[in-house]
Amino acid sequence: MKKVLGIFLAAMILFVMAACGGGNEEGGGENAGGDTGGTGEAGFVGIAMPTKSSERWVHDGDNMVKEFEALGYKTVLQYAEDVVENQVSQIENMITQGVDVLVVAAIDGEALSNVLEQAAAADVPVISYDRLIKGTEHISYYATFDNFEVGVLQGSYIVEALDLENQDGPFNIELFGGSPDDNNAYFFYDGAMSVLQPYIDEGKLVVKSGQTGMDTVSTLRWDAALAQARMDNLLSTYYTDDEVHAVLSPYDGISIGIIAALKNIGYSDLPVVTGQDAELASVKSIVAGEQTMTVFKDTRELAKKAVEMADAVLKGEEPEVNDTETYDNGVKVVPSFLLEPVRVDINNYEEVIIEGGYYTAEEVQ
Ligand code: BGC
Repeated sequence: MKKVLGIFLAAMILFVMAACGGGNEEGGGENAGGDTGGTGEAGFVGIAMPTKSSERWVHDGDNMVKEFEALGYKTVLQYAEDVVENQVSQIENMITQGVDVLVVAAIDGEALSNVLEQAAAADVPVISYDRLIKGTEHISYYATFDNFEVGVLQGSYIVEALDLENQDGPFNIELFGGSPDDNNAYFFYDGAMSVLQPYIDEGKLVVKSGQTGMDTVSTLRWDAALAQARMDNLLSTYYTDDEVHAVLSPYDGISIGIIAALKNIGYSDLPVVTGQDAELASVKSIVAGEQTMTVFKDTRELAKKAVEMADAVLKGEEPEVNDTETYDNGVKVVPSFLLEPVRVDINNYEEVIIEGGYYTAEEVQ
């Protein structure tokens, strides 16, 4: 009897150890659950991502897990499905689990001050990932893309596609912005408007709805359905007798919503529609001649940068940065590394996306 009990107890202990050792359900190289497979000898990393509903964040998370594991880290990766409270409690849990460093892509950049106080109290440094975390001194570094440049690429694409240098127009344009709680959204919009505004002032571009400015054109949580509803509305209010020639869209999900609205009312000759992220649906849409362009931001490179930063911070070294002026979070200017975004359309998607190994040729058909 004693022996049976002993075996039973030993089995229980093994079971509990296995259950605890793997972080939590999102941990895992395959994003599957259980242990990451990382040895953990280098340390333990908490990765908090906003949502799986946009594919780019899934790539970001997977890429970081892979990179961290290769360096001997154990990781816990969690997605909060765009619910701010979820993200806060996920980060709290990671701190309780004893992570050594956090990498966070915030849902609401202003909502993490309290939880990052807890991180600081536990001596856990924080890397702000892609989106700037605001209102706190407790971020060490920021890894992102040149967000203003993303907007410049979108705006200048529209200028070239409509040949505004040589045509008098006027051409009708409508403007969409990203989520108002995401610092990046303002950089994208400002970058685009730095190119488009002179043509609007000149009258070559006309915003028939009169809706301009982030307080009017933003799209909460980058929600495609919201964008589609707004585009439906714009079309039925301002374009019953007129055509829209270009739509500034900050993100591929939003672009897909806009294109759906346009197709619903019978546009076959679609306007210029911009985008961002090279999400699979949008690359397919570009190949099919619908969405006009996207801005590719290689999440493999961004993941690598963030991993380098976290690794350096834990080793007491200074990670490489290339910008110490732009990203003021209200409390401090956060030392940043900005990667270069790349514009992609029908003419270069094969070279950038396919040959670059981001998707296969079969995937984008
Ligand atoms: C990211 C973009 C992304 C958007 C929506 C932004 O913060 O920089 O790449 O399109 O969020 O997920």
